[in-house]
Amino acid sequence: MRPDTPAEHIAEAERLIRTATRYPEDQEPLLLQAAAHLELADARERASTLYDQLLAGSPADPHLIKALQAANLWEYGHEAEARALISGIRTAAPADPAPWEVIAESLEAHDELEASLDCFNEAATLLVADAAPLTPATTALLTGRHRVRRLLGLPHDDWDMVADTRHIGPIPLDELHDPKRIWALGSDDPAELRAEIARLRAELGDRRAALSRPFPVAMLHWPERELDELVTAYPTLAAEYPSHDAHLAHIEASLRALAASGTTNLGIVTGSVPSYEAFAASEKTSPASPSLLAEYATTLAARGKADTWPPTSTGPCWCGSTKPYPECHGGPTAA
Ligand SMILES: [Zn+2]
Ligand SMILES: [Zn+2]
Repeated sequence: MRPDTPAEHIAEAERLIRTATRYPEDQEPLLLQAAAHLELADARERASTLYDQLLAGSPADPHLIKALQAANLWEYGHEAEARALISGIRTAAPADPAPWEVIAESLEAHDELEASLDCFNEAATLLVADAAPLTPATTALLTGRHRVRRLLGLPHDDWDMVADTRHIGPIPLDELHDPKRIWALGSDDPAELRAEIARLRAELGDRRAALSRPFPVAMLHWPERELDELVTAYPTLAAEYPSHDAHLAHIEASLRALAASGTTNLGIVTGSVPSYEAFAASEKTSPASPSLLAEYATTLAARGKADTWPPTSTGPCWCGSTKPYPECHGGPTAA
């Protein structure tokens, strides 16, 4: 299911482009994801065409698309166009952290550390307020800023301290971002130097992948009445769903396991029998086929239909119970 080779990425991109013609109202998330797969296959020119196609419409998130386009163009030698897009985004000063992060990282990737830091600073000044709590996206801004400031050898400031405090992971941020450590290692052992650089790149790459993947890895959820109707109509699916309670517990447990293994951008899509039957018809497959369920979930997610998991700690549970998440499936024993 998860594409790995360039050919698989191209095939997945083409599947998403076909899906976009079937669901024109969900074109933006589908084509953005298709472009991300094309970039992963190094089909950068085709990715550019998709970004241009999206920008020619009236996209919901033009700044993010322009930022991704700038990063993509610069990767295959169109530096002047990339720079023009980047300065346009800086002038527009979007209120969304994601485009800022993409352009700052693009500058960083091309060794323009001062300009990269300027972008991180502009974004943080605009979007990190003392009074408002940090979100994952604004935390990512401060983390990127921390990395670039470490590479420039600058002393810590207050935002760097915040980045350190907020960082979760086995390796402390200062160790992960320490250029001295990288160079010290390099003088002794070039293999370890390469490993360190690879680790820094991987950290960056994961984040980029999360940004250009606007839809999450999603679990399929059936409300109780829909599940009853589904297994009554298609008894072959009953083996997948022993009971509604077990179905809900399985969703929560699976998402927690994915989160614990480091998967980010998780979500839940909610199925309905009519939409599932329509999907089966469009795929020319029987709705009774259990293997269709995962395809259905992936396609709903690709159409931007997923709710983010976990819900906020004060929000209602994803299961529809109306109880707060921590008192329902978010509780310590629920999963
Ligand atoms: Zn630090
Ligand atoms: Zn619940």
